[in-house]
Order: sequence, then C-alpha cells, then structure tokens
Amino acid sequence: MSLEELASRYEDIRAKLSEQFYFQKAGLPFDKDLMKSLSGEISKVCLEFLQKYKEPRSMYLESVSTIAQSESLEARLEFEEKRMAIIYTEKYQLDGKKVNWGNWRQFNSKVDDPSKRKEVFDEFLTKAPALAPWVEKRFRISKEVYARYGLTPLDAYLELEGFGYDELRELLMKLGDGAKEAFLAAAEHYAPEVLGKKRYEYYDDYYTWRGRIYRPLNKYFEGMHPVKKVLELLTSMGFDPRKIKVDDEDREKKSPSAFCFSIRVPDDVRVVFRRVSPFSDFGSVFHEFGHGIHGISANPEDPVWKRYIVPMNVAETFSYLTESMLEEPLFLQEELNLGKAEINDILDRRKFMKLAFLTFYAANGIMKMEFWRKEYNAEEAAKRWQELTKRFFLEVPGSYWLLHHIMPNYEMYSPSYVIAALRVMTIKKRLREEFGEKWWKHPGAGRFIKELAETRGEFNVREWKLDPDGYLKEYTALSFLK
Ligand SMILES: [Zn+2]
Repeated sequence: MSLEELASRYEDIRAKLSEQFYFQKAGLPFDKDLMKSLSGEISKVCLEFLQKYKEPRSMYLESVSTIAQSESLEARLEFEEKRMAIIYTEKYQLDGKKVNWGNWRQFNSKVDDPSKRKEVFDEFLTKAPALAPWVEKRFRISKEVYARYGLTPLDAYLELEGFGYDELRELLMKLGDGAKEAFLAAAEHYAPEVLGKKRYEYYDDYYTWRGRIYRPLNKYFEGMHPVKKVLELLTSMGFDPRKIKVDDEDREKKSPSAFCFSIRVPDDVRVVFRRVSPFSDFGSVFHEFGHGIHGISANPEDPVWKRYIVPMNVAETFSYLTESMLEEPLFLQEELNLGKAEINDILDRRKFMKLAFLTFYAANGIMKMEFWRKEYNAEEAAKRWQELTKRFFLEVPGSYWLLHHIMPNYEMYSPSYVIAALRVMTIKKRLREEFGEKWWKHPGAGRFIKELAETRGEFNVREWKLDPDGYLKEYTALSFLK
C-alpha cells in the first residue's frame, strides 16, 4: 500500500474504533468484540507503516504508540479488574453501594465528616501496594514495544510534544515551587468552609478540593444553560458550533465527566456531558466545546496525520482557551450578568484550583518522567512521588500514585496540560493587545483562533513563549491573600 492508502485505511479504522469507545463512554451499547478486532486491524496498519516508512515522523511515533496500546490492552483490562476487586471498603456505603475505587471521589465530595473521608483514604492506601504487580506488568509491555523501535514512551512523548526533558522538568519544578506558598495559605483559608475542619491534611486530595470548593458558586449559575451560552459565544466569534453534535441526555452508564470525541476530523465531532452541578457544568461544557471548535476547524484537504496526530499540549490549548472565558471578569459581567462580589468569588476559587493543579501536576509529571528515565519499580516510584508531594505541597503517602486514574494507567502523566495553560495566557495577552479588552467580541479574534486551530498537527509549539513567572504572578494573586 502507498503511504496515502495506508493513511486513509488508518483513518477509516480509527473512526470505527473511536466510535466504539465513544459509545462505551457515552453509556450506549457497544461491541467489545468489534473493538478488539478493530484494535488488531489498526495495529496491523501501523506495523505496515513502520516497516515501510520513517516519515512523517508524527505518524511514526503514533504508530508505535498504537501498537503499544494494542499489546497492553489485555494487561490494562486485567489491572482495572483487580483495582475494582481490591480497592473497596466494607465500612461505608454511598447510595446503597459499597464505597470503592469507582465512587471514591463522589464519596469525598458528598460526605461532610472529614474523619470518615480519612478512614477510607487510609484503608485504600494500605491496600494500594497490592496493585503494584499489575501496574508493573502493564508498563513492562509498553517498554518492550517502544524498545523495538529504539524508543521509550518518554522519548516518544517528549518528541511529539516538542519539549526537552530538562526543559520540561525545570518548568514543572519552577511552577510547583512557585505555587506552593500561596496554595498552602489559601488552603488554610478555605479548609474550614470546604473541608469542614481547621487544617488541610494529606488525605484532602486534589479531587476532594475540586469536588467541594465550587459548591457555593452553583447558586449564581442555576438558571443558565452552559450549552446555550457557549453556542452564543462561539457563534459570535465566527465559528459554526452547530456542526458539533451535543449529547446531554442522562443515562445510567454515561461517564460523569464531560468529553469530546473527534470521530472524523473535521466532519464528525461530538461533545457529551451530563449535568452534575451548575458551575462545574459550565467549566466542562466550555472546555469540551473548545476541543469541538478545534476539531471542526481542520481542513478536510489536509493529510490524515496533520488532521489527526496532534500533540496533547496543542489540543488542550483550544479547550483551555474556551474554558478560560470563565476567568474573564468582563465576560462574566456582561455575558453572564454577574455582580462584582460573585465575580471575585469565582476568580478566587478558580485561582485556588489552578494552584492546586500546578503543585499536584508538578509532582505527578516529574515522577512519571523520572519513572522512565530512572527505570523505577512501583515502590521506588511511590517513594519518589512522596518526596515530591512534600516539596510542592504536603507529604502524602507515596502509594497514592497507584490509585490515581492516570499515573498507573498511562505511560505519561501529562505535563501537556500545564504547557497548554501557560500558552493560553500568552495567546490571550496577544488577543487583548490586538483586539482590546473585550477581544471575544471582535471578529478578528475569532478568525485568529480559527487559523491557529486549523494548523492541527502542524501547530508551531515554539511560537508562543511560555511565561511561568507571569503565570505564577497572576494565579497567586487571590483577593484574600493580599
Ligand atoms: Zn481537554
């Protein structure tokens, strides 16, 4: 097969396969056997590509990753089963079901008695090391696949994202260190209200904060529909967001977190969400529609690899840019009709979560980078992660990493989100300079974003200088810390 034929075959199988994953996540009937056979088929296409071609490089790296995903599929499923079987407690129930790994975050957001949350945390942490053999097996398989092509998962990740090891590690160190003090001070401020106790402690994880801190904001957003608001915004910017299919139905097996699937780029892009709570729905709907406009802005004439193989830090740039409208005081005031006190409350809480994000992501990202570079086993990884938590926020028992939903499941924990967040700040600065304080009302701004989105896999990741100092300055400025 020629390169073009292989690429178009890849596109077809990929579309069918991602539709099955889409059905699964959306809580719709899906076909597991079809999923497995498609995964085998796409793997074959990738193998043929790797045997015949070295370029385009993005397609090469993506092919290695696809084969690693396919060969580790069984081990990953096995790990997920073990996790459900091992991580549960007999002591507490939530809506008539035992508290286990799956509903742990809901438990933490719903249960106001901190001693109960502590008890569950401690029990799960004691059980976590039992998962180590499956996690190690799963990573051993990826490592072997990448090694066949003279790569490690870390090398491939860094190359595709366009960042060097030292550069990225130093950036994370700087952000983690720089956010620490303000984060801890703000955590003390919010602890009584959000955690129901005087102090922030090791078992109050990132997700506990996130699940609880936005509750007082719900009352401001109750009567507003996030999809309606985001459609208004994007339409006024010159996009055609009606091309994005939206599924907001409530189904039992539907994922509680919103997501966007670009099944065919640019013609079949779908956003799915489920109402959880008014304020966080706004955040997730705006975020996912950002992915949506990125998908529909692709040029159908571009080659497959340019349309589909996009570094994660580029993909998240468009979602963060749209989501960050909720941090624009003028947007909140004029488009959502909120008052000054409400706007300040929103900004403080979002800034606080950004500080939590920087400190947590610094520890997770650095640990996973070193995991591959220094070839840690699960226990060494736990020890290192614990040290990093102590450095960036507060010492947390290291086995926690095995209970996270990304760290033990994916080769890399993505510092890409941090890069995207910093890049968005630079892009918005430029938009403000060129199109004014209310840049989103200027037709030039929409055109500008659309052109950037269209570059897809050829987005110039070096074009936008990241400004960690400026970022820290902005996000450590909470109104009550002055
Ligand atoms: Zn995203």
